[in-house]
Amino acid sequence: MGGGKVISGCTVEGLKFQKGRVSSVQTNIGEISCDMVTLATGVAAQNGLLGCEWNLPMQNKKGLIVQTSPIPALINHILMTNDVHFKQNVDGTLTAGEIFSGDFDENIVALDLASDVLSRISRKLNLSAKLVPSNIKIGTRPVPIDGFPVVGEIEGHKGVFVAVMHSGVTLAPLIGQLLASEMLKASKSPLLGSFRPNRFVN
Ligand SMILES: Cc1cc2nc3c(=O)[nH]c(=O)nc-3n(C[C@H](O)[C@H](O)[C@H](O)COP(=O)(O)OP(=O)(O)OC[C@H]3O[C@@H](n4cnc5c(N)ncnc54)[C@H](O)[C@@H]3O)c2cc1C
Repeated sequence: MGGGKVISGCTVEGLKFQKGRVSSVQTNIGEISCDMVTLATGVAAQNGLLGCEWNLPMQNKKGLIVQTSPIPALINHILMTNDVHFKQNVDGTLTAGEIFSGDFDENIVALDLASDVLSRISRKLNLSAKLVPSNIKIGTRPVPIDGFPVVGEIEGHKGVFVAVMHSGVTLAPLIGQLLASEMLKASKSPLLGSFRPNRFVN
């Protein structure tokens, strides 16, 4: 960890600035001094923080995630099809989502939709046995208003960086590397040029 310390389970309430640069993070367990902060607050990035008037305009979208009981090993890849995407985990269970980026219809019963999603998978894999759901969740995807990642230092808030996107799982290794490099070396990555927070006027 290079001398770092992980503090989990606390809430960040605000940021303080001194001489135009972030100087501390205010949390429910006290104030922590700092010279840099990254806001990787996902769906909550649309809420501002005390002392930091910047907030991200978002169109967060709910979606279904279904997990099944294990089945014999069948697939090695993530399968992305027109009406369902899914993968098989090392323990034989399947994890599936319905659609890539749409919104969840609040009138639909999650259990019914999950059954439907599992039927679609059964048909695609020509399964004879019925897939059994073991976990059904409705999660919220953090989606910036224009659909694209938002990464980098927030203009007018020296030392405050943001990293929020829908494809955060897929992009996490790359974004982590690029943003860490920007923070430590203060050199901007051209790869992030189209995804800066200052494209939103706040
Ligand atoms: C239905 C669904 C489908 C998805 N599909 C894909 C996909 O196809 N591809 C992909 O790559 N990813 C996908 N994802 C993942 C998702 O879209 C994000 O990419 C991922 O959750 C981003 O992770 P994150 O850590 O940046 O944000 P989050 O997972 O939202 O985590 C943010 C964290 O910050 C914490 N937080 C917020 N505010 C504060 C505060 N003030 N103080 C302290 N803590 C705070 C929250 O508690 C949370 O733990 C999907 C997610 C869902 C639910």
